[in-house]
Amino acid sequence: MRFYLGTHQPDWLHHLNHRWFEADQVPLFVSHRRLADRRTLFPANVPWALDSGGFTELSMYGRWVTTPTDYAHHVRRYMDEIGRLEWAAPQDWMCEPVMLAKTGLTVAHHQARTLDNLLELRHLAPDLPWVPVLQGWEPDDYRRHADAYQSAGVDLTTEPVVGLGSVCRRQSTTAVHSLVAELAAAGLRLHGFGFKTLGLRKVGHLLASADSLAWSLNARRRPAMAECFDAHEHCGNCPRFATRWRRQLLDSLTPPPAPSAYAA
Ligand SMILES: [Zn+2]
Repeated sequence: MRFYLGTHQPDWLHHLNHRWFEADQVPLFVSHRRLADRRTLFPANVPWALDSGGFTELSMYGRWVTTPTDYAHHVRRYMDEIGRLEWAAPQDWMCEPVMLAKTGLTVAHHQARTLDNLLELRHLAPDLPWVPVLQGWEPDDYRRHADAYQSAGVDLTTEPVVGLGSVCRRQSTTAVHSLVAELAAAGLRLHGFGFKTLGLRKVGHLLASADSLAWSLNARRRPAMAECFDAHEHCGNCPRFATRWRRQLLDSLTPPPAPSAYAA
C-alpha cells in the first residue's frame, strides 16, 4: 500500500528531499487550495498526488465555484512547473449527510456530478492524470456509481487509481470493510481518501494507496517534540514529526513475522 503523506505546506514538495533522510520514499498529498494562489511554483523532489479540495469548497459554498476549465488550467500548471504529479483528484461531490445538507442535493445527484466532472476534465485535458472517484453512502450507492462509470465507458478495473470517497469518517466500520473487500475483489486499485491508523489496520491490505493529514491535527494538540523545542511551539507543520508519524503508522500495519518452523 502506497501511503501519501498529507501536508498543508506545498513547499515540502521541493525541499523535503534535501532535509529529510526518508523523503525519497515519502510521496506527498497536497490540496489544490494550497497551491492555487502561488505565483511561483518549484520543481518537486518527491512524487505527489493532488487533492481537489472539494470538501472545503463544498462546505464553504455548497457547490463547486472553481470551474472545470479553471481547475484543469491549474493542474496543467502543476504538471509543467512542479512535475512528478502522479494523479489528480477530480472535482468530486462527497456524500456525507452534512454535505448533502449543504448542497440540498441527493446522493444520486452528487454521484452524477462527480462522474460528469471526470468526463469533462478528461475532455478538456485528456493527457492529465485524472482519476475516477466512487461516491456514495450506502454500499448499494457505490455499486450503482460503479455501474454508471461502466455505462459511461469508464472501465474502473483498468484505471490505475480509483478514489473511494465519503468513507473517511467511518473507515474502520464493518460496512466499509466489506465494501472495500468487494471492490478490491472486483479488481479495483482503490485509493482511500483520509485513511488513518484504525481504517488502515482493517483494510490497508486491500487498498492500493491512501493518504492522511491526521498527523498535523495530532501534533497541534500537544507541545513540540523535545528536539523541536527551539524551532516551533507545536509540530503541526513539522516534517520531522510527519515523516516519523508516517513511518510508525506503516510499521504498525506490518504483520509480525510468522513463527519459525524451528521454534519450540
Ligand atoms: Zn517539530
